Amino acid sequence: TVRVRGLAKAFGTNQVLRNVNLEVARGEVVVIMGPSGSGKTTFIRSLNLLELPDRGSIEICGVELAEPAALPPRERRRKTLQIRQQTAMVFQSFNLFPHMTALQNVIEGLVSVKGVAREEARRRGLALLGKVGLAEKADAYPGKLSGGQKQRVAIARALAMEPEVILFDEPTSALDPELRDDVLNVMRELAKEGMTMLVVTHETRFARDVADRIVFMEGGHVLEDTTPEHFFGAQASERCRQFLGRLH
Ligand code: ATP
Repeated sequence: TVRVRGLAKAFGTNQVLRNVNLEVARGEVVVIMGPSGSGKTTFIRSLNLLELPDRGSIEICGVELAEPAALPPRERRRKTLQIRQQTAMVFQSFNLFPHMTALQNVIEGLVSVKGVAREEARRRGLALLGKVGLAEKADAYPGKLSGGQKQRVAIARALAMEPEVILFDEPTSALDPELRDDVLNVMRELAKEGMTMLVVTHETRFARDVADRIVFMEGGHVLEDTTPEHFFGAQASERCRQFLGRLH
């Protein structure tokens, strides 16, 4: 479903991604961990071209974007749109529209991008808000929601677009610990339903319970790509154990 080859990205002289390779099969949940500054966010944002990689190729559900920086802009835009139709992103900072209700946030893309009729969009939006446990908040504005509720609205919004893959960038990092479980439980549910998910997170319990694979990044490379059993077990590399030791 997802295939990344030789991805590289620098900001000025800061070479953030050096040569990242990754494959994710349909229905897999891959958790990306690594120290601060290792390029996790840059990597996941590159997958749907929120960052333009300098080199490498990205293939998502059959849409291949090879060396996007070298493509003519029109061609790059066309492919980028195709990739964005297959992927949804959930951000650390929710990124809801403050002037729209929860329901309006969820259905905005359905109406404006997918051209779904407003009544049908409302029906689907309400069902999705129900799925994330927020049916009764449909008419609330983001300012009246807790961080955990906002993030669940953001997940419902992502689901509304019926993506093949959902990219999560530290979805619980901005939340108080007691609000994180509501969000993580929604994510667990999606994983169980077979959603393909790439998740940048420091949530070790989620990673251990839900991930099919853990990808450990450092210095712009994938240092380990392994099972949670191995990553969290006694056989893990010295570097991974050191990293995990510091998390607690
Ligand atoms: P964290 O766990 O702290 O979020 P991370 O592994 O997600 O870290 P990134 O956010 O990808 O790391 O950042 C990697 C490096 O890239 C950092 O040194 C950061 O300062 C730099 N960086 C990220 N985005 C930009 C940008 N838009 N412009 C310049 N530098 C950037």
